[in-house]
Amino acid sequence: MKYGTVFNIQRMSIHDGPGIRTTVFLKGCPLRCAWCHNPESQRPEPELAYHANRCVGCGFCVAQCPAGALSLSAGKVTKNDSLCTQCNTCVASCPYSAWECYGERMSVEDVVTEVLKDKAYYTKTGGGVTFSGGEPLLRADFVAACATQLREHGVHVAVETACFGSETALRRLFDAADLFLVDLKVMDDAAHRRWIGSPVEPILQNLRLLGAWGAEALVRIPVVMGCNATEENMAATADFLLSQTPYRTVELLKMHKLAENKYRALRRDWLIADVEPPTEEHMAELANVLKQEGLCVYYKGEIV
Ligand code: SF4
Ligand code: SF4
Repeated sequence: MKYGTVFNIQRMSIHDGPGIRTTVFLKGCPLRCAWCHNPESQRPEPELAYHANRCVGCGFCVAQCPAGALSLSAGKVTKNDSLCTQCNTCVASCPYSAWECYGERMSVEDVVTEVLKDKAYYTKTGGGVTFSGGEPLLRADFVAACATQLREHGVHVAVETACFGSETALRRLFDAADLFLVDLKVMDDAAHRRWIGSPVEPILQNLRLLGAWGAEALVRIPVVMGCNATEENMAATADFLLSQTPYRTVELLKMHKLAENKYRALRRDWLIADVEPPTEEHMAELANVLKQEGLCVYYKGEIV
């Protein structure tokens, strides 16, 4: 039986493909985008997070922890990672949900059974199920097994991916899914390495492959000031898509800062604390560059 580590199953999603969808978020990603909105997705294993803003300092979790890994000081709890055995007793014992475990091991059958509960919505709206991450290419066998079963039930399957993975994994998902939502962040290789932590060429090559195989795909560009929010980057993106792929539609996604609390809860640095989201005027200017180059551009669910 195949298993994956799922950190969220989000129902009634309207931003992850056509119609009303359920999005299955998998843990594990080889990239480290500085602005990542889902830091809980990055590591492959389940992770414990502590939301200090919810904690009232009652000390129940400290008393319950069988490993003696927790201590209370100044009304807040600290955890000794070297003692913690990941038993999740603290998660179950906190009355204020201040402890949260990101990630649950689920079988293909678990996932399929769960997402089929909303099949009526998919049928009525032309929706379906989207696998996101993390990076679904890292779990290609698991995603493909889920997708194959879902398609047997007549459910449309999309895969949201950064396209950083092997050709074998990509082909596996191409054979199993109906639609790819591909993040293409920045065309300059040095900037890609600095902001995302990988070279850009493997991603471009996978996009070429998807195009050559005839995959349906929507290219999405998360716009981040200082990284890729320039007319030059948009022109380079358009040039690549027009000259080397069949893809003529892109979606712009404005960076946001809603993930800050999750970084705090996971005790990780929020690398773009000083970076502000682009203005609407700037988004319009970038959209214009893409349109002038000959692409169809979506922003906030509408063609602009
Ligand atoms: S997961 Fe278990 S061992 Fe770790 S801090 Fe929570 S209760 Fe203690
Ligand atoms: S049980 Fe919850 S609210 Fe109480 S100290 Fe622990 S984390 Fe804080």
